[in-house]
Amino acid sequence: MRAEIYEKKAGKKADIKSLSLPELAEVLADRGEKPYRAAQMYEWMHRKLARGFDEMTNLPKAFRESCREQYAYTSLRTICVQESRMDGTKKYLFELSDGSLVESVWMKYRHGNSVCISSQVGCRMGCRFCASTLDGLERNLTPSEMLDQIYAISLLTGERVSNVVVMGTGEPLDNYDNLLKFIRMLTDENGLHISQRNVTVSTCGIVPEMKKLAEENLQITLALSLHAATDEKRCRLMPIARRYSVAELMEACGYYFEKTGRRITFEYSLVGGVNDTQEDGEQLSRLAKPLCCHVNLIPVNPVREREFVQPAMDRVYAFQKLLEKNRINVTIRREMGRDIDGACGQLRRRHRSGLQDFGGNETC
Ligand code: SAH
Repeated sequence: MRAEIYEKKAGKKADIKSLSLPELAEVLADRGEKPYRAAQMYEWMHRKLARGFDEMTNLPKAFRESCREQYAYTSLRTICVQESRMDGTKKYLFELSDGSLVESVWMKYRHGNSVCISSQVGCRMGCRFCASTLDGLERNLTPSEMLDQIYAISLLTGERVSNVVVMGTGEPLDNYDNLLKFIRMLTDENGLHISQRNVTVSTCGIVPEMKKLAEENLQITLALSLHAATDEKRCRLMPIARRYSVAELMEACGYYFEKTGRRITFEYSLVGGVNDTQEDGEQLSRLAKPLCCHVNLIPVNPVREREFVQPAMDRVYAFQKLLEKNRINVTIRREMGRDIDGACGQLRRRHRSGLQDFGGNETC
């Protein structure tokens, strides 16, 4: 049975919130439950965002008790919330059932509320400028643990989440099956029913998985963390570039665009003296043009443990102008929550190492 996939191998309880509605129906039917129980329970978990079986008041008490004995019900414990004084961005540090820590971010935009979630505990991709990868990968997140980040923030803010970006800690395509299940459950009409067009998955560029994703019949946006337009420069910033060349990446992007009709976003973190010259801009334009890509420029967020520096803002604007002159659709990412350890993995790291210097409002 499919449901067994989520039974943790060493005889632990099955993770009931990671089951799709048909899987849940199968599990409950095997127990001899009434056919409508699955829909009731799924609604409690994924629409009413119940934090445990106890809240499911229209289900018989004995049934709830036996569920509690047999299944694991994931939910997150809020360890810390930081609120930016600059733009209201909130960063959450959550603890999972096994004590692992993950970060998620809440951002308010004119076009709606966005949640940025983590897909793994730690990361093994080793990008040179990123804090999430400094301690390596601890483990993958389950579908329920990815959903829980959105559910918890939705309950804490009391507001509707309209956009989800998988851009927090971790490489989503390194946790492919769980990611796919998460996306399907998040966008399912029996759950929060977030539009697939409002879901963005960001990858450092794992070519076989990008191609596989193109065939999943999804309408999500794929963002590629390109950061450099040549193999030589990309290898200096990202170890994954040694495995897949820029040419292979562009071929995979072309395939994704052709299969899904969805334009890809190139993310480009501008690093002073490394990838911010006029030549870099021209090379980037040549890659983005044929794919009609949107380019998102991110002045690199300095990380304590890394030596990289932001270019001066006039250089960032000059880089943007150059792309615009080449008729590339380009934006500079608003630096949301810079005062609250905005960059990936910085809050989790700071918390683990017990450092306590901080500019925004913090409740721990
Ligand atoms: N692993 C995925 C998603 C997580 S990172 C990926 O690589 O896309 C989300 C984005 O933030 C990526 O584009 C990543 O390269 C970028 N990023 C990480 N640390 C950064 C920093 N210190 N400054 C600017 N961008 C950073």
